[in-house]
Amino acid sequence: MASFIYTSRAQRVVFGPGSLGGLAAELDALGLRRALVLCTPPQRAQAEQVAALLGAARVAGIFDQAVMHVPIETARQALQVASELGADCAVAVGGGSTIGLGKAIALDSGLPVIAVPTTYAGSEMTPIYGITEAGLKKTGKDDRVLPRSVIYDPELSLSLPAAMSVTSGINAIAHAAEGLYAADGNPIMDLMAQEGIRALARALPVIAGGAEGDALRPARSDALYGAWLCGTVLGSVGMALHHKLCHTLGGSFNLPHAETHTVVLPHALAYNAPAAPRAMARIAEALGAAHAAQGMFDLARSLGAPTALRDIGLREADLDVACDIALKTPYPNPRPLERAALRALLQDAYEGTRPR
Ligand code: NAD
Repeated sequence: MASFIYTSRAQRVVFGPGSLGGLAAELDALGLRRALVLCTPPQRAQAEQVAALLGAARVAGIFDQAVMHVPIETARQALQVASELGADCAVAVGGGSTIGLGKAIALDSGLPVIAVPTTYAGSEMTPIYGITEAGLKKTGKDDRVLPRSVIYDPELSLSLPAAMSVTSGINAIAHAAEGLYAADGNPIMDLMAQEGIRALARALPVIAGGAEGDALRPARSDALYGAWLCGTVLGSVGMALHHKLCHTLGGSFNLPHAETHTVVLPHALAYNAPAAPRAMARIAEALGAAHAAQGMFDLARSLGAPTALRDIGLREADLDVACDIALKTPYPNPRPLERAALRALLQDAYEGTRPR
């Protein structure tokens, strides 16, 4: 057994169908009295459902203006609303964008965040925040932004469209896959990562296959369980080439977050495969495939997900710039960053070639 350091974080996780019903008890346990409920405009109805469950006395109001990448103006506006309405916490109902808004409020004000995730992005399990100011997204790490309690109720994810469920689920798998070769990895995270990939690889075909009602519910539970595990890995160990590339492509070329992860992951795995054979074997085992990179590509394709960057808005002329940006600041990665190989990776991802 190699040497390792494992740090655990204080966070409560309440999981299960109907667990949203325990939200008021979570607030009480934390000594919180009046929540500002956060959501995106399309999830207003879910936020109202949450507010109704909490009851008028515990709800300061609903702020329904969360958007992708947390513009600083939105964060300031939400903070002002929280202060005017006398909120003592934020309840974020939604995906990474809404939870990201809660984190921005917490960073500035110290108001605790309770997260009710409805996608598989995993932000609720990390102390990582991102705020966009003057077109630039700044990210950082601060324990103040880590949600105190997380309520995972799979019933709330039933409405996530199948195509978004697939890319969001693969976004989660990416956290686990890179966790398995993280420079600061540890055996607990390895277990969580493998189990997270297994759960999502089992659930996504059922969700993508159009199951409904009671046939869909076990898969929604499995997928959210996998998302929790993968999000924990993201919050605990360092990410590498794949996340760096996705951050570059998303930030510099405005590509959609989960779709970008879906397209790039098989190629990032293929790049790192020679330098991380143990991690690849674990990923392949969890996917039920012979090879990690090919297995990941085949899973995405079989689920009808995008497999080429050209299909999600990148221009071929952007590939050289993307390569330059990805090489600019060094970061830990199992295989050293080699320009020619990285450029070939981007070309393969652009064209949607199955990794060799
Ligand atoms: P998102 O939060 O932007 O959600 C996408 C859309 O789906 C939104 O319109 C949302 O309202 C809708 N939606 C969400 N759940 C739904 C449901 N159950 N039913 C119907 N509609 C639903 O997307 P995301 O992929 O969850 O989050 C992406 C953002 O999160 C990015 O900005 C990314 O950088 C950030 N992120 C941050 C971390 C972190 O640790 N800080 C981790 C992962 C992602």
